[in-house]
Amino acid sequence: MTSTHDVVVVGGGHNGLTAAAYLASAGHSVLLLERSAALGGATVSAEAFPGMGARLSRYSYLVSLMPRRVVDDLGLSLSLARRRYSSYTPVPGGDAGLLIDNGDPAATASSFAAVGAAADAPRWERFYERVGELAQAVWPTMTEPLVRRREMARRIGDAGLVRDFLERPLGEVIEASVADDLVRGVILTDGLISTFADAHAAHLRHNICFLYHVVGGGTGDWDVPIGGMGQVSGQLEQAARTAGAELVTDATVTGLEEGALTWEDGEGTPHRATARYILWAAAPAVLDEVAGAARGERVEGAQVKVNLLLSRLPRLRETGVAPEAAFGGTFHINETYTQLQQAAASAEQGRVPAPMPAEIYCHTLTDPSILSPQLREQHPDAQTMTVFTLQTPDRLLDDRGPEAREELQRAVLDSLSSVLAEPIEDVVLTDPSGRPCVETRTTRDLQDALAMPGGNIFHTPLDWPFADDDAPLQTAAQRWGVDTAYPGVLLAGAGSRRGGGVSGLGGYHAARAVLDGARS
Ligand SMILES: Cc1cc2nc3c(=O)[nH]c(=O)nc-3n(C[C@H](O)[C@H](O)[C@H](O)COP(=O)(O)OP(=O)(O)OC[C@H]3O[C@@H](n4cnc5c(N)ncnc54)[C@H](O)[C@@H]3O)c2cc1C
Repeated sequence: MTSTHDVVVVGGGHNGLTAAAYLASAGHSVLLLERSAALGGATVSAEAFPGMGARLSRYSYLVSLMPRRVVDDLGLSLSLARRRYSSYTPVPGGDAGLLIDNGDPAATASSFAAVGAAADAPRWERFYERVGELAQAVWPTMTEPLVRRREMARRIGDAGLVRDFLERPLGEVIEASVADDLVRGVILTDGLISTFADAHAAHLRHNICFLYHVVGGGTGDWDVPIGGMGQVSGQLEQAARTAGAELVTDATVTGLEEGALTWEDGEGTPHRATARYILWAAAPAVLDEVAGAARGERVEGAQVKVNLLLSRLPRLRETGVAPEAAFGGTFHINETYTQLQQAAASAEQGRVPAPMPAEIYCHTLTDPSILSPQLREQHPDAQTMTVFTLQTPDRLLDDRGPEAREELQRAVLDSLSSVLAEPIEDVVLTDPSGRPCVETRTTRDLQDALAMPGGNIFHTPLDWPFADDDAPLQTAAQRWGVDTAYPGVLLAGAGSRRGGGVSGLGGYHAARAVLDGARS
């Protein structure tokens, strides 16, 4: 059976939902096809531990890159909470740590002194002042058609900033800016989210990743979505439905020809849909596969995600800092600059990094609403914890069998325990069947569950949020960074030029291209 629409959106992650909501609101007939049984893609909340009553953000967990404009245009009711503490980084093997307290600069300065990095306190401030200038210039362009590199440099206005962040490897500017190994490591982490890189790599993918992690809202703040990530996709789903989009789950797109798609429903029944525009909000590599194109360069992510449910916060080796403060922001484990570089070298040689560099985040300290009243009554101090590792590329799983997940989980828990005053296992709750509440998602798990190639959380390696000086920008699709090699098909997901992360920008840019007449 063939159905006909103005627009078919493939993929019901938050970007596909964003595109569907915009275009249905503009009066287009929109069909959205989602392969899974549920909408939301990587922005979902889930009862990861059956019978426990905790609805965790299963994959993505913090929001920085979603522009106010998208929230306002679509009338989303989202509550994002700012965290007071930016980060805590224990000195590996020591009993002190660096606490960055946004609310108390003096306390932050004395924390630098406590880890032996007093001289870096003003340098850190200066570094992030410069990053702030960069963010102020880059952020407003994210909701505009792409500007060219030359124009972006003009807007940044400071040749030193352009050179330091856009032209030379991140490692060089970090080394020139601060001296302490731990302080350097904290800065580098923002360049290594799902991005496997040596700090000095000439490809600059870590610079690009860093840029996206510091520009959000013009401040680079990462906020907690109250109610969990499911609120973000839930609000977008509601906006799309209210605008009249038809959203179909258990619908896997299997073929592409000009102006038409074939897809299968949950029973395996084939369908066909034709449309003036096909908005591809799944990964670009899946588009190539469905279109029968040759497989391109390997795409891979570089993280393991572990969700835990705890009876209480674990005790820290440092007694002078409250666990609520340390876990209130991003808690960096074994992420000194040297450790991150060593981890990259180990992984390059096929070895699981030991210790595993990772960041922890504790949603419930900012937003306890994701725990059910029963759970809170039974375990008044219960907390969720999310661990996201760095420098753990998908290639590590190439020669490891099904036991790889366990090996990686072990490495994560060991790394975590190494900076605590007690083994993490001591505070992990068990579910009604006696299983520890630990959920581990490898890059392969993400590929299976979400069709993210190689578990890359951005669908493809991130690209600069501007066009090269000689890039063709004739069509609306090119100007919005959503063009593909396939006529009538636009990217609308994380794999579009500026679409990575929870931002809605992939969907927004594709919708703007359609509204601007992308075929012209
Ligand atoms: C573990 C993890 C942690 C993360 N943490 C953060 C974070 O804290 N903050 C942040 O900003 N970002 C984070 N990210 C990244 C962010 O979540 C993603 O970049 C973003 O959500 C991608 O959204 P999307 O809508 O473009 O794609 P997705 O959410 O990947 O959705 C694509 C959808 O397409 C569907 N699909 C695929 N193939 C087909 C097909 N053939 N037919 C039909 N449907 C198909 C998939 O099932 C999926 O639902 C994280 C991601 C992961 C995985």
